[in-house]
Amino acid sequence: MLGLSPDMSIEGLVLDVDRFASHDGPGIRTTVFLKGCPLACVWCHSPESRGAHPELLYQDERCDACGLCPETCPEHALSMGMNGERHVAVLDRDACTVCGKCVEVCYPGALRIGGIATSVGEMVQQVEADAPFFISSGGGVTLSGGEPARQPDFSFNFLLACQMRGIHTAMETTGYARTEVMQRLASVADLLLFDMKLVDSAAHMKYAGVPNELIITNLRMLASEGHDIQVRVPCIPGINDSADQIRSTSRLVADSGVKRIALLPYNSAAGAKYDWIGTPYTLGGRTTQEEEYMDVLAGICKTAGLEVQIGG
Ligand code: SF4
Ligand code: SF4
Repeated sequence: MLGLSPDMSIEGLVLDVDRFASHDGPGIRTTVFLKGCPLACVWCHSPESRGAHPELLYQDERCDACGLCPETCPEHALSMGMNGERHVAVLDRDACTVCGKCVEVCYPGALRIGGIATSVGEMVQQVEADAPFFISSGGGVTLSGGEPARQPDFSFNFLLACQMRGIHTAMETTGYARTEVMQRLASVADLLLFDMKLVDSAAHMKYAGVPNELIITNLRMLASEGHDIQVRVPCIPGINDSADQIRSTSRLVADSGVKRIALLPYNSAAGAKYDWIGTPYTLGGRTTQEEEYMDVLAGICKTAGLEVQIGG
């Protein structure tokens, strides 16, 4: 953006960086996941991104029972014990202060800190290493979450710095943030991947933890400003994937002026990460939709005048 220079010193809380991603926008991409999300979707497939603070993530299937971590924990939050027939480390989350000492000795990577303070400068340096792949594939950087708008200054400056280096920028968003914040971030995003879950606000509140009026207002506002937007609908069996619901959603999207929609089939492995943060997954027992059914839903979106993609 003319006349602006990014502040490379601003820090964000970064959960993860996924290189060579192919589902978060065009071409080969490096996706940066931030910590913190204002929603609480019951189907969330990255629950470790929701909290806006660092967390100790523990994957006990990776533990090889070396016994080193209990010795390093100053809070005695780790001990050795049994999970079924497996001898593994056992974590007492109430006692853990997320100091990170155990992570340093855990060579299999069973213990990790989710949420590392990282400056815009450090993040840009990391993603710039992938620039040759962006150029050859028409890819770029995608900022995802969590919700990037929860860390608006980091997100703005990071996307601006990438744009100024000629890197294509995409931002995946829940759309749930003050409209001025969304407009500022959209000004440095070449593409917005905008989630739309449910048209009915009471149902949105029930399943995603917040009402949706602000999200719909933001979608309409950003579309009216001419931003390149793809709306993404996570299709969750029995919650928002009926033909009537997708008809309502596709009409709302088309009426807002957006031309493109992606229908994301339910990810039946979505519950896998809940153990990492010691939280139960309450949405079990659902299976991914059949291809034929997704084709029916895609047809409904086409009827509404939208260009449709199945999957991310
Ligand atoms: S992060 Fe620190 S307090 Fe928490 S279990 Fe590891 S060593 Fe103990
Ligand atoms: S350091 Fe890692 S591998 Fe070793 S016991 Fe602890 S969690 Fe398991």
